This record gives sequence, structure tokens and C-alpha cells, in this order.
Amino acid sequence: MPDNENLLRRHRAVMPDWLALNYERPIEIVSGKGNRVTDADGNSYLDFFSGILTNMLGYDVPEVREAVERQLATGIVHTSTAYLLRGQVELAEKIARLSGIPDAKVFFTNSGTEANETALLLAAYSRRSDQILAMRQAYHGRSFGAIGVTGHRGWKNTSFSPVNAHFLHGTDRHLPQFAGLSDEDYTKVCVEDLRHVLATATAGDVAALIAEPIQGVGGFTMPPDGLFAAYKEVLDEHGILLISDEVQTGWGRTGSSFFGIGNHGVTPDMLTFAKGLGNGFAVGGVVARGELMDALPAVGLSTFGGNPISMAAANATLDYVLEHDLQANAARQGAVIIGGLREAAARLPVIKDVRGKGLMFAIELADAATAAALMEETRKRGLLGGKGGLYGNVVRMAPALTLTDAEAAEGLGILIDSLEALNGS
Ligand code: PLP
Repeated sequence: MPDNENLLRRHRAVMPDWLALNYERPIEIVSGKGNRVTDADGNSYLDFFSGILTNMLGYDVPEVREAVERQLATGIVHTSTAYLLRGQVELAEKIARLSGIPDAKVFFTNSGTEANETALLLAAYSRRSDQILAMRQAYHGRSFGAIGVTGHRGWKNTSFSPVNAHFLHGTDRHLPQFAGLSDEDYTKVCVEDLRHVLATATAGDVAALIAEPIQGVGGFTMPPDGLFAAYKEVLDEHGILLISDEVQTGWGRTGSSFFGIGNHGVTPDMLTFAKGLGNGFAVGGVVARGELMDALPAVGLSTFGGNPISMAAANATLDYVLEHDLQANAARQGAVIIGGLREAAARLPVIKDVRGKGLMFAIELADAATAAALMEETRKRGLLGGKGGLYGNVVRMAPALTLTDAEAAEGLGILIDSLEALNGS
């Protein structure tokens, strides 16, 4: 039995069935450099999903590696959360400033799930309510609270949750009742729906709305720009907090704004982050107005959240993003790729929709089988992507923000060749 089949058999024996692996023959990635990875069989791939939006600068980035090595050389991988940590304070200062949230404070976690769980806790405590608004087809994590605000059947393992959630329209324009509506009219319908939900379905004491500015596993589904600003006017009337889940959309990825919520022209009360900030090292966190963050009545900590190694990686990654203005690169490369895919969509009926912002773009196909086939076609040609969408019918791409002109052209070429093969042309 070839070695990676053996590994797959061992994986299936000891790991959960719901831990989905990509590709008919799952890949074991053994090394990476720049925006390319190599598998155990020696195949090289252009990674158009940057791990899982984790390697936002690519692989083996000297600035990040050297920062981590410098920290390792001190002998301090972890001490105690009872001591001051310089890297943690420095990173919190940068993120607080970048968030635009007034009087912001930052709490570090190890994952996006924990970050959202913390934000929900802060909201529930400060508003003394377990009622949360969330978006249909959203995904916010796999913990008991986060699953409660997840509105995507494919990722929702239980409806038992400490959170009492109400799900809003805003990312479901594919439904027939919204066909043909302009952005403006759809936004009006959504705002009316929000008012109706508040008046008729809740007990009137809702704590927060949590939302992804562009839905990740939901298939890079995009609410119309400005929707969250329109929602916020209503939320403010009721003292309801806005939590922006930036786990996928943060750090300039959308090209047009440093955090995804900026595309809506609104500042949230809290913002959560994870994935790309550590360029592969585990870092997540919450930024909240100080008054919300400080309100919790008991002592709290995260033993590994904000640890020295993650902080070294995250400071180096964030500095790199800012010094090289990778937001501008995301805007430029994204425009080329999305433009190229739209042109292809005009002549290839296999493409049902192309959408995205910056280096976060997706191709919608008729069904999950066609999406799986596109994944296989791109893999054959040396490009990795990610599957998603409400019906598993979307192929998502989120390359590293360091993507070069040549890599963008190469990736676009592979995508078009693969779509042409599927289209039978
Ligand atoms: N929020 C969003 C928008 C995500 O996409 C994810 C993960 O994919 C999470 C939260 C959960 O993050 P993690 O897997 O780090 O717990």
C-alpha cells in the first residue's frame, strides 16, 4: 500500500469522520516555500488557499521564521500568564489602533472559535441577554456557543446551544423572492426583516449581531456593501452590539478595506480575528471597546492565548503586511483574477457565478459534484483551492497576500484551463 494511502487509513481510524479532507486522494503536504507547497509524492502546487487562509504571507517567510527563532533562542516558549509579555502588549497596541474601535482593548486566544466565544460572552454579559442575531449560512466556529450562531446546515452539528439565536437575511440573494432586486432594495428588505425579527421573534433584549462581512465557508457570499451600516442604525436604536467576525476577511485581504467591515462604512463594537495573523502559528483574539472588555466581573485568562511564540510570529506578520502594503497588492491581484474569471464566465456556462473582493474570490457551480470535479481538475494542473458554499457547490480561493503578478497569471490560467475542461470546450 503506498505510504499516503496507509496514512489515510490510519487517519480515518483515529480521527473524526467529520474532519473533512480535500480531494479524492487526500494530499500530505511536506514542505512549502513562497506560495508553493510540495506533497509527499514530490508534486508541487501553487497554493491558492494559503493553507486555510492561515499562511497569509506564504510559506517559510524569512521575517517570520527569524522572529520566531529569536524568541526560541531566549529559551522562553511560555512562562506564565502572570508575567508581562512585551510582544503581547506591542501586538495589542497595533491591532487596537488598526481596528478603529474607540478606546479598544484586545484579548488573545488560540483560534477563531475561542475569539467568537469570548465576544459572545462579552456581549451576553454586558447586555444581560443570551439572545444573539446572526446571519443565515454563517459559520463562526465549532464550540457550543459559536455553533449556536452558525446558520449553515453543513457546519451545524447541533441546535442545542447556550445561545438563543435569530437568523437574518442579508446573504441569501439567491432566493427567488429576492430575484432582480437592486442592492438598495435588497438592503431595504433586509432592514425591514431585522425590524420585524426584533419586534416579533425576540424577547426584546437582544445582546448583539454577529456577522462575517463576507461569509467564508458559506461560499464567499457577499452582502451588499453598506448593509451593516444600515443594520447598525437599527441596532443602535435598541442598544444591540455589532460583532464583526474578521477571521477570514481581516488584514487587508479584501483589498478595499483593512477589515472587511470597513467595506460597509461602519465601525463595529467588537471585532474577532484569527487564521492569517500568525502566518500559520495559532493566534486569535477579540478587540472590543474597553468598557465592554473590562465589564466581566471575574478573573480570566487564556493559558496559551498570546504566548511568546505566536506573538513573535504575529508581530512579524502584521509588520510585513503594513510595510509592504499588501492590502494594495490584494486589490491589484484580485482585480486581475476576478476580471479574468468574469470574462471566462461569459463564455463558459459551467460557471454559475464569480464573486469576490481582493484576494478572496469564488466560483459557483451547479452542484457539489461539479465543484469537486473542478477541485480535481485544478489539482491535476498544480493548483490548490478550497470547497465551500451552502450546497458545497462553490470553489473558494484566497491566495497569500504576497501573490505576485506571475503567480496571479499562472493561477488564473490554471483555473480557466480547468473550467474549460469541465465545460467540455
Ligand atoms: N469564524 C470564521 C468566519 C471562520 O471561517 C472560522 C474557521 O474557518 C472560524 C470562525 C473558526 O475559527 P477556528 O477554526 O480558528 O476555530
